[in-house]
Amino acid sequence: MPEMPEVETVRRSLIPLVKGKIIKKVTLWYPNIVTGDRDKFVSELKGKKIIDVDRYAKFLLIRLSDNLTIVSHLRMEGKYHLVLSDAPKDKHDHVEFEFTDGTALRYNDVRKFGRMQLIDTGTERQTTGIGKLGVEPNSAEFTDQYFISELKKKKKNIKNTLLDQTIIAGLGNIYVDEVLWKSKIHPLSIANKIPDDKISELRKVINKEIKLAIEKHGTTVHTYLDANGEAGGFQNYLEVYGHGGEECPVCGNTLEKIKVNGRGTVFCPTCQVIYK
Ligand SMILES: [Zn+2]
Repeated sequence: MPEMPEVETVRRSLIPLVKGKIIKKVTLWYPNIVTGDRDKFVSELKGKKIIDVDRYAKFLLIRLSDNLTIVSHLRMEGKYHLVLSDAPKDKHDHVEFEFTDGTALRYNDVRKFGRMQLIDTGTERQTTGIGKLGVEPNSAEFTDQYFISELKKKKKNIKNTLLDQTIIAGLGNIYVDEVLWKSKIHPLSIANKIPDDKISELRKVINKEIKLAIEKHGTTVHTYLDANGEAGGFQNYLEVYGHGGEECPVCGNTLEKIKVNGRGTVFCPTCQVIYK
């Protein structure tokens, strides 16, 4: 499942491929990918120019002329690829944006879970799932003061609190395990019992981890867009995720694997302190 750094990688790789191109025709081979008015999606996009590609957490925001934005969520396996417009359709290609220059951007999704929506630019918080999301790592809003005061309101465990996206957006299962291990906080710690200095440390670790993950994925853009597998690179930097039963890289004791609210969770019972 793409996490925020992968989506950022997709964003960066899409910009040089599509920026400035004008949409000649939109084809919905599998219309359910589009939420809202599908006829309008097809008709309104005709003639529009792609101005830029932005992102909020795991949502891609494809900015178009005339104040329009396509909000695209890749969910489990969605991906984009640029082809010549007469290239044969892959059986998992579901949406096509044909451009006036003879190329086409195709949305491919084996599981068909991804979604797209056409909105007026600037209304994304009112009209899409973005409205429920918290702040992003490395943003000006993600301060110690914000993080401490938000965690004080949460009586559930920190793992689940970080995963629910309402305080901080964009951290998935992999990164939550990594950042909790690096901050030496047990995943079952109760959010509002964690000391302020540990929250401050956790914030710094989150920012650093996400920055590094984006850098590492940035080197594997083409692998990801050619889309046969996962974005490479960063898995080599994972220290606990996927390493249950192995030695903790810090203390050498065995990393444990448990389920927290149904999500596989790896942690070090020696290094990570439980606050409750
Ligand atoms: Zn350890």
